Amino acid sequence: MRVHRAVVQSVTDLVPGLRRLVLGGDGLADFETTGVGDEYLRLLLPDPGEAEPRLPVATETWLDWPEGVEPCALRTYTVRDWDVDRRLLTIDVVLHAGGVAAEWARQVAPGQVCGVNTPSGMYDAPDDLEWQVLVTDLTGLPAATRILRQADPRVRSRLVVEVPGVAQRFSDEIPAHVDVEWITGGNGVGPSRIEQVVRGLEWPDGIGYLWVVGESRVLRGVRKHVRHELGRPASAYKVVAYWTEKVEEWNARWEALPEATRTELEQLWELDLPEEEIEDAYYARLTELGL
Ligand SMILES: Cc1cc2nc3c(=O)[nH]c(=O)nc-3n(C[C@H](O)[C@H](O)[C@H](O)COP(=O)(O)OP(=O)(O)OC[C@H]3O[C@@H](n4cnc5c(N)ncnc54)[C@H](O)[C@@H]3O)c2cc1C
Repeated sequence: MRVHRAVVQSVTDLVPGLRRLVLGGDGLADFETTGVGDEYLRLLLPDPGEAEPRLPVATETWLDWPEGVEPCALRTYTVRDWDVDRRLLTIDVVLHAGGVAAEWARQVAPGQVCGVNTPSGMYDAPDDLEWQVLVTDLTGLPAATRILRQADPRVRSRLVVEVPGVAQRFSDEIPAHVDVEWITGGNGVGPSRIEQVVRGLEWPDGIGYLWVVGESRVLRGVRKHVRHELGRPASAYKVVAYWTEKVEEWNARWEALPEATRTELEQLWELDLPEEEIEDAYYARLTELGL
């Protein structure tokens, strides 16, 4: 794990509400990519009006701040591109209403400073992949686009993107061979149809992979369908919550839980069990607790 200081090089609006930031500077000299299409990192942000974020130090596995230093805000973003020759890191940020990161990205200009850590990836399609289906809202479009650009064009690829409105159909970078469908909704502006889309999917024969990302409650329904109703093995799909609607309310309810319950839930992640089994137990308990 490393922490890198990064300087904003350019800011471009790809479509209304989706802003591309290219980061560079000497701090990225030793940045290393995993090469995985959906690799993500923590964007480490300055307080509003401050020039520098209070960057953490990297421990072997996570981030730590010296005693007495208040942690800076951090949010998760996809490495849309890493230009290894020019040492330039591209991140595409959804400019949704509210939010520390979205507000920072709304005002950011070249020369401003942030931090990033070492990325890790989750997309893990089987070898000899024959088909894949990617379903996402706008937050996952950067990852889906990179996955598709990196995939062998012989893989039959289908992409369904739920966007807030027709203005956000950013298709310029999606490879031409991909079968793309745009739907409107979700994204904090209306009910999401992602679960309905996944429930209506036809699963082709052959070696395939389903990758679904979006809002966390929507994805709980998707995961239930794929894992428990269809009984797909963990190697055949990845379902990842990228954000939580009304996260402030969720956080307040989490903080209101007895400390022992929070510890019990946190300790589930340390069990020596397959990740999917831990997720089963974790989400079942959250549901019981009304979270
Ligand atoms: C692995 C991974 C990769 C990700 N990659 C990207 C990426 O490349 N680009 C990207 O834009 N996001 C990405 N996200 C999602 C991003 O981390 C969240 O949207 C995050 O909550 C944004 O932080 P914030 O400070 O703007 O808002 P927060 O402080 O987290 O939330 C503030 C308010 O905004 C709402 N909110 C948060 N995100 C959204 C949203 N997308 N739409 C509508 N309302 C929202 C919350 O419900 C809350 O009410 C990724 C997340 C993960 C886990």
